[in-house]
Amino acid sequence: MPTRAHEPRPRGHDDLRDRITHRNDFKAKERARLPKVEWAEQPAAIRIHNIREVPYAYTPDQARAEAIRCLQCKTEPCANACPVGVDVPVFLHLVAEGDFKGAIREIRKTNILPAITGRVCPQETQCQQNCAVAKVHKDLGFAVSVGKIEAFLADWEREQLGIELPAIAADTGKRIAVVGAGPSGLTCGADLRRLGHAVTIFEAFQKAGGVLVYGIPEFRLPKAIVEAEVDVLRRMGVTFEFDTVIGQTVTVDELFEEGFDAVYIATGAGLPYFMEIPGEQLNGVYSANEYLTRANLMGAYRFPETDTPVLRRDRIAVLGGGNVAMDSARTARRLGAKHVHVIYRRSHAEMPARHEEVKHAMEEGIQFHYLRAPTEILATQDGWARGVRVQVCELGEADARGRRKPIPVAGAFEEIAVEVVVEAIGNGPNPLIPKTTPGLEVTRHGTLVVDPKTMMTARRGVFAGGDIVAGASTVILAMGHGRQAAQAIHEYLQAA
Ligand SMILES: Cc1cc2nc3c(=O)[nH]c(=O)nc-3n(C[C@H](O)[C@H](O)[C@H](O)COP(=O)(O)OP(=O)(O)OC[C@H]3O[C@@H](n4cnc5c(N)ncnc54)[C@H](O)[C@@H]3O)c2cc1C
Repeated sequence: MPTRAHEPRPRGHDDLRDRITHRNDFKAKERARLPKVEWAEQPAAIRIHNIREVPYAYTPDQARAEAIRCLQCKTEPCANACPVGVDVPVFLHLVAEGDFKGAIREIRKTNILPAITGRVCPQETQCQQNCAVAKVHKDLGFAVSVGKIEAFLADWEREQLGIELPAIAADTGKRIAVVGAGPSGLTCGADLRRLGHAVTIFEAFQKAGGVLVYGIPEFRLPKAIVEAEVDVLRRMGVTFEFDTVIGQTVTVDELFEEGFDAVYIATGAGLPYFMEIPGEQLNGVYSANEYLTRANLMGAYRFPETDTPVLRRDRIAVLGGGNVAMDSARTARRLGAKHVHVIYRRSHAEMPARHEEVKHAMEEGIQFHYLRAPTEILATQDGWARGVRVQVCELGEADARGRRKPIPVAGAFEEIAVEVVVEAIGNGPNPLIPKTTPGLEVTRHGTLVVDPKTMMTARRGVFAGGDIVAGASTVILAMGHGRQAAQAIHEYLQAA
């Protein structure tokens, strides 16, 4: 029997239907105490043998029951932390009421890629970090699962209704070239198209998505989902020119000569950093970029069905402790490696990777070697990698970013025997556009200098955003830049 509205409900009850039926009766205190709705995941022992997505999506009842936990704070601390300004409490309220169509429309007002951001955004350091429910519990793990609900809504829309196109203003007669089809270029292009401008996105690869297709693995972000979201831009009338490297095939100057009125540079940070230790030139040593691109974009999982192979060996070392390292290690496991060693020079607490990725990696049997700094990649006689020599470290004082520094322990070295080494220690901006475009100002890190309000570079009419400005950052920050630049380009063109 369902409880009647005026009857007290048992504390901590978790019947989803009951929670949905009584949603309007819960006082804020009770909402805050409702149990979080957990989602199911593929068991680790099974998922290491496939590349399917790890978490299962919320069901409609689960999404509603989770959204009911939102306290609808008037100050909207979650929304204020979103770089694209999604009105989180509004869409959660609509979900709680069962109005999924209204909720996804609310998200789409400011976020053109919700199925992607719902899956890959580091919500725990953005919207969910400021969640009042988490504050009540003094535990971030209790925050309302904003990302999981967002992904549910985007999937529900795509599967049940088809993705709705935004309204597009009358043609302005202005043409904008966007360089790079990653999340920043896609967002900027979509916003400009909505405002009635003609947009062409130039992309070096044969597919749109940037890191979303070549870096982030299928088991975290299915490529069919990226394609469906990119297809929205096509249906909006955005043109794509693939296999076109701006700065090589055509320069930015030539784009202006061809009649474009403004250019948005969103070429990302795709240049891998190396540790500069002996042995990096050996066979069997990859940058994470190459390793992941072979597996994801080039389909090396399916080699020889596809043309691109990647080395499949039993023992693999991944150097680094960020998301890219976790993606590489988990990819290696799925490519059949029995022993995958993540080698990181600080401790578990300092790892920059998302908690969820580290947890998944541990469940999948990845072995972590903390406080170990690689000093050399060891060679076989015929020039292949055979191991990594590491310096044992201990934690010292905090650095400028508040992370404790690794200090070498005198004379303490170890060797880890592996056959393949993947370096995942970070990426820098691609220098091609800065080198071939006169008038741009470039920092010593190779990023482009822009006006932080307008995203315009030192050169009039040339705007930039995403990782090429921020350095290796996040999908949502790159999208936020794209939105900001689109508005500024619109104003620039109106004033011209
Ligand atoms: C393996 C990996 C995992 C990550 N995981 C996450 C995550 O879980 N969550 C998260 O928020 N962030 C993650 N990131 C970071 C995030 O993906 C980036 O911050 C984001 O993609 C940057 O977007 P962007 O549009 O600026 O650049 P990119 O996504 O890099 O896109 C740039 C595009 O420009 C193209 N291009 C480059 N030069 C040229 C040229 N000269 N002419 C034409 N086209 C060009 C490139 O081919 C690319 O398609 C990850 C990064 C990596 C590498």
